[in-house]
Amino acid sequence: MRLVLLGAPGSGKGTQAARLAKRLAIPRLSTGDMLRAAVSEGTPIGTRVKAAMERGELVPDDLVVAIVAECISLPDAKSGFILDGFPRTVVQATALDDILRAADLRIDRVLELDVDEAALLVRILNRADEAKVNGFARADDTEAALRMRLEEYRGQTRPLADYYRGQGLLKSINGLQSINKVANSLLEALDA
Ligand code: AMP
Repeated sequence: MRLVLLGAPGSGKGTQAARLAKRLAIPRLSTGDMLRAAVSEGTPIGTRVKAAMERGELVPDDLVVAIVAECISLPDAKSGFILDGFPRTVVQATALDDILRAADLRIDRVLELDVDEAALLVRILNRADEAKVNGFARADDTEAALRMRLEEYRGQTRPLADYYRGQGLLKSINGLQSINKVANSLLEALDA
């Protein structure tokens, strides 16, 4: 099964993608994780994207598209994958469609975690505080970067819901339920 998980920063996307990947026994492909690893390893890509990521801005489409194209061509993604944090722009979504079409493949379902913005701010600021206490703070968990991440989401990523709705692939789930309930709703949406 080839899935896309959409959701704003703080919507619980990473947690749910990890659970779903385990349950379905398919890899979770998180562009955010891959880019953070590149930054911490100091690779050429990491050096290129570090400042933009710290400001909470999206990194260039061509760069993430190339990363994802490589990941989905690997043997462990042959039976499916769940994309977490990609696509984030309509340009990325059309590039993904082209890559898959060239391999005679397609996205099976797009799941969207719906969480209202006031809840998002509270959640992500709490997560940032907890991460600081535990020593795992992300460079983009500052209030300024968070506001930028939400703005990027609103302007660039939210239009993807319409893009995938138009293809008949979108299922929207209430992301404000408990973690277990959201996980169950996602599984139900896949069975539907
Ligand atoms: P995430 O962990 O998904 O919240 O991503 C963290 C950061 O990585 C984002 O704020 C962007 O700077 C960058 N990033 C991750 N995925 C993408 C993407 N698909 N397109 C552009 N930038 C991305």
